Amino acid sequence: MKRLEIEQFICRNDNYGVLIHDPESYLTAAIDAPDERAIMEALEARGWSLDFIFTTHHHQDHVDANLALKQKLGVTIIGPEGEKEKIPGIDRTVKDKDSFTFGLFQIEVIGTPGHTAGGISYYIPDAKTVFTADTLFSLGCGRLFECPPPVMLHSLQKLIKLPPETAVFCGHEYTQSNARFALSVDPDNAALKERAAEVQHLCANDLPTLPTTIAKEMATNPFLRWHDQRIRRNLGMMEASDKDVFAELRKRKDNF
Ligand code: ZN
Ligand code: FE
Repeated sequence: MKRLEIEQFICRNDNYGVLIHDPESYLTAAIDAPDERAIMEALEARGWSLDFIFTTHHHQDHVDANLALKQKLGVTIIGPEGEKEKIPGIDRTVKDKDSFTFGLFQIEVIGTPGHTAGGISYYIPDAKTVFTADTLFSLGCGRLFECPPPVMLHSLQKLIKLPPETAVFCGHEYTQSNARFALSVDPDNAALKERAAEVQHLCANDLPTLPTTIAKEMATNPFLRWHDQRIRRNLGMMEASDKDVFAELRKRKDNF
């Protein structure tokens, strides 16, 4: 039986560092490299040595430790073809629909532009896990720094086609503030109210609200619910296109 071990830990202020480890091959990878010290401590705590960094996008808070970890540990850095010039130390590029092996696991690359123009997510079918960084958050989605709303919408549409039980790891612990916005546009959603209460309890106890799942997000995350009649009524957009509803949600969140 294949088993992927996953270690998630807070880095910087609200970034997540994640290590994945295949106990059969003894390979370890970091999903992004927000903070050298936090990653080194997590490796030491588990007794793992780092072989790879899988970069999702070029933002500083996701690549900050690339060069230091490469120098110290000789890691191989894999990242998005479309952002290769902006990713320090990158060795190998991948793009949408590529896949590569990591020990016993196959890793599938999903192109998820929107937050940045070349950003990617890493999906591991045999671990029922996806790493979406700043594309999909729990109860939110990334800001649109480099792309218009329909590009992000298309990326999110790809992610929600993954099996509902897929675990979703995200780049930041933003869930509590996302919940406040979500409730403002979808106040009568019972699943959302329940999740918001859970999130409040977790945060009050300094516990992570992640990973989430695709199913949970589809029931609660307004940025995946552009089709929902109650949200549309609240926005006064009953007849609008999915694109326009999504763009309006993103605009309101930016100004929330
Ligand atoms: Zn980012
Ligand atoms: Fe980020």
